[in-house]
Amino acid sequence: MRAIDIIEKKSRNERLEYNEIQYMVNSYVKGKINDKTMSDFVWLIYNNGLSMDETYYLTDVMIKSGEVIDLSSLGKPVVDKHSTGGVGDKVTLIVSPIVAAAGVCVPKMSGRGLGLTGGTVDKLESIPGYKLNLSKKKFIDALDNVGCAVISQSEKIALADKKIYALRNEIGAVDSIPLIASSIMSKKIASGSDIIIIDLKVGKGAFMKNIKDATKLARTMVEIGKYYNKVVICTLSDMNIPLGRNTGNALEVQEAMDFFAGKYDKRLYELCVYISSLMISSARKISFRKAKIIVKGLLDNGYAKTKFYQWIKNQEGNITKLAIKAKKFIVVADESGYVNNIDAVKISQLVFDLGAGRVKKTDKIDYSVGVVLNKHLGEKVTKGEALGVIYYNKKVNDMDKILHDSFTINKKKKQVKKIIIKTIK
Ligand code: URA
Repeated sequence: MRAIDIIEKKSRNERLEYNEIQYMVNSYVKGKINDKTMSDFVWLIYNNGLSMDETYYLTDVMIKSGEVIDLSSLGKPVVDKHSTGGVGDKVTLIVSPIVAAAGVCVPKMSGRGLGLTGGTVDKLESIPGYKLNLSKKKFIDALDNVGCAVISQSEKIALADKKIYALRNEIGAVDSIPLIASSIMSKKIASGSDIIIIDLKVGKGAFMKNIKDATKLARTMVEIGKYYNKVVICTLSDMNIPLGRNTGNALEVQEAMDFFAGKYDKRLYELCVYISSLMISSARKISFRKAKIIVKGLLDNGYAKTKFYQWIKNQEGNITKLAIKAKKFIVVADESGYVNNIDAVKISQLVFDLGAGRVKKTDKIDYSVGVVLNKHLGEKVTKGEALGVIYYNKKVNDMDKILHDSFTINKKKKQVKKIIIKTIK
C-alpha cells in the first residue's frame, strides 16, 4: 500500500476502505509518513468529508492505536459524561457526585484546558492535594467505594488522535465534523463506558457556533456509538453566555461548593439537573421523569453534597484549603435596566488574559484569577450596583471596561433563552 495512492483515491472523492485509513493513521503514528503527507490527507477529509462508514473506520483505528479501558469488573451501571467545552463550564464537578449518589458509576477522564475554554483537570488541580493520576487499581477502587472518580486522561488512550489532533490544530483543520466526531468518540469509547452523555455546547463561546452544525456533529457521534453498541446521547446546550456566575479555575470549584450549599445559578441548575437525569435514566433504565425526581431529591436531602466532599477527599483533595489568592476589582453598572446579554467570548478572553488559561499544554496557569458575575441574564440592575468582580494578580489593560462592556443592559427585559436546546439520541 502507498500513501500517495490513498491520497489520490480520496482526492477523486472515492470511498476509502478500512485498511486504507488504517494504513494512513498507523503509518503516521509510527513516523513512516511525515506531517506534510498527513496534512494533505487531513485536508482532503476536511474538504471532501467522510462517509459514515469511513468516519467509523477512522474512529476505530484511532481507538486501537492506544489503550482501551475495561470497566466490566465494576458490576454496576457505568456512565460517562463529556462536554465539548464552554465558558464557566463546571458541570462535571456537579453532576458526577449527583449521579454517583444515585448508585451509578461515573468514571471520568478529563483534559486540560487549551485556548479560551478551561479544562476540568485544571479546575480540580486548584484544590490542594487533589490527585489526578490514580493507578488503574485505585481508579477502580474509587469507583467501587465512592461511585465517581475524575482523573486526567491517560496519555495512552487513542494515541493516534493525540498526534492527528495536534497536527489539525497546527494546520488549522480542526473545524470538520467527521474529524471532530471521530476524535471525541475514539477517546470516549476507549475509556470504557457503555453509556456516553455528551453536553454539546453551541454558541459564541463554543467551538460549534450554530445549531445546524452542532446537530450534524451530534448525529455523527450518536451513529458512531451504534457501531460499538454504545448508547450515545447528545444534548445541545446554549453557550452564548457564561455558564453560572464564576469563570476561572478555583472560582468554579467554589461555585460547585456553593451549588451543593443550595446557592444555585438558575441556568446552571437547569443544565446540571438535566444532564444528571439523562445519565441516571439511561444507566438505571428508568424514565427521565423518575430520574429527575431522584436528582432533585438528592440535592434537597444533601446526599449529593456528601458525595461531592467524599469524592474530593477520596482523591486526597483538601477542599477546606481551596485558596483564591487574588486581588478584587469591582465593576459597577453605569446605567439601570435589565441584563439582556453577557458576552461569553469577552469574559473568557479576559479570564484567559488574567492568567487562567494556556496556549501550550505546558504553560503555567494562575488558579486563583477569574471573574464572578454579580448580575446574570434577566436580572435587574441599578446604576452604581456591582455587575461583577475581577479576581486578578496582574492587571490586564482596560479589564474593568472589558467586563463592563461584556454586559448588555436595556430598559426593557428580553426573554431569557432556554439553556437546553435539544437532545439527540
Ligand atoms: N475536541 C476533541 O477532542 N477533538 C476535536 O477534534 C475537537 C474537540
